[in-house]
Amino acid sequence: MPLVRYRKVVILGYRSVGKTSLAHQFVEGEFLEDYDPTVETTYSKIVTLGKDEFHLHLVDTAGQDEYSILPYSFIIGVHGYVLVYSVTSQHSFQVIESLYQKLHQDHGKTRLPVVLVGNKADLSLAREVQTIEGKRLAESWGATFMESSARDDQLTQRIFTKVIQEIARVENSYGQE
Ligand code: GDP
Repeated sequence: MPLVRYRKVVILGYRSVGKTSLAHQFVEGEFLEDYDPTVETTYSKIVTLGKDEFHLHLVDTAGQDEYSILPYSFIIGVHGYVLVYSVTSQHSFQVIESLYQKLHQDHGKTRLPVVLVGNKADLSLAREVQTIEGKRLAESWGATFMESSARDDQLTQRIFTKVIQEIARVENSYGQE
C-alpha cells in the first residue's frame, strides 16, 4: 500500500482573478462561466505523482487585497500556496506581491513552497501584465511561475502538481542543510 501524504494548499489572490475557477477545473474538470464570489470553500483530491499518492486539501479563499490580514488558518499547518493574479489586471499583480510579503513575514521568513500563477492568459487582447514580469517576480522569490487559463484542463492540472512538487523541493532542501 503506498503511503498517502496529506498536503494543505491555500489559494490566495485578489478577487475575480480565477481562484475558484482553477480549483473547480482541477477538482471537477469543468470551467465555470458564471461569477460567483467565494466565501471560503475547501476541496479534497487524491493526486498520484509517480509512485506517490497525496491527499491534497485545497482552500479556496474569498480573495484579498493589499490591506487584508491573513488569518492563522492560512498560515498554520499549510504546506504550500498557489498565488494567483490575472494577466488582465495590473492591480491584481500588485496585490499578489504584497500578499507574498505578508506570508513571508508570517512564516518567519522561511522558504515558502509557492506557485505563482498568471491566470486568464487566454484573454490576450486584455493583457496588462507581461509574462516576463510574472517570471521575474517568481524568480525573486525562488518560486515556480506559470501562466494559465482555467478554461484549459491540462494547464490547470499542472498548477496543482507543481505545488506538490514545490513542497517536496523545499522540504528536501531543508533536509540537506
Ligand atoms: P475568484 O474570485 O478569484 O475565485 O474568481 P472566479 O473563479 O470566480 O472567476 C471570476 C470570473 O473570471 C468568472 O466569470 C470566471 O468565469 C472568469 N475566469 C476565471 N478564470 C478565467 C480564465 O482563465 N479565462 C477566462 N477567460 N475567464 C476566467
